[in-house]
Amino acid sequence: MKRIATMLSPEEIDSRLREMGREISEDYAGRQLVLVGVLRGAYMFLADLCRYITIPIEVDFLGVQSYGDETTSSGVVRMTSDLSRPIQDKHVLVVEDIVDTGLTARYLIQNLETRKPASLALCALLEKPKNNVGGVPIRYLGFTIPDQFVIGYGMDYASLYRNVPYIGVLEDQKEN
Ligand code: 5GP
Repeated sequence: MKRIATMLSPEEIDSRLREMGREISEDYAGRQLVLVGVLRGAYMFLADLCRYITIPIEVDFLGVQSYGDETTSSGVVRMTSDLSRPIQDKHVLVVEDIVDTGLTARYLIQNLETRKPASLALCALLEKPKNNVGGVPIRYLGFTIPDQFVIGYGMDYASLYRNVPYIGVLEDQKEN
C-alpha cells in the first residue's frame, strides 16, 4: 500500500453523517423514502448514513461506471446495474460518494426522473466544487474538498483502498 495522507478522519465523517441523518429525517418525516446508493463508491457512506436516519426507508442500489483505472473522469457514464424495484410515486434520494464533474449525477437524475418518482434529490458525501461546472444541485452535502483524487471510505484507486476507514490522498497523487 502507498502512504496515505488523511483528509477526513473517521470521527469527522461520523459527526457530519449524524447531522445529515437528522436533517434528512426531519425533511422527509411522514413520507416514504427510498435511498438509492450508487455503486460501488457509496456503499460505506450509505451504510453509515442510514443508521442516523430515523424514519422508515427502503434501500436500493444501482451501478455506474465513469472512471476506469484512471484518476480523471472518462466523461462517459454507463449504467452497470439497475434498481431492483420501481420508484414511481416514491420519494427518492440518490446517495453518491463524490460529485466531481457532476456528469454521473446529472446522468442519474435525468435517467431516474423518467421513472416518475414523487420527488428526486441528490445526497453526496463529497463535492469538488471547482470541477462541478454544470452546478449539479446537491440537496445534502457532507464536505467540499479541494481538487485532489481521494481514496478510502468506499472509494477506490484501481479497485483498491475502499476498506480504508477514513478519506485520504495517496502521497504520490497529492499534486493532481
Ligand atoms: P463525476 O461524474 O462527478 O465526474 O464523477 C463521479 C464519480 O467519479 C464518483 O461517484 C466516483 O466514483 C468517481 N470519482 C470522482 N472523483 C473521485 C475521487 O477523487 N476519488 C475516487 N476514488 N473516485 C472519484
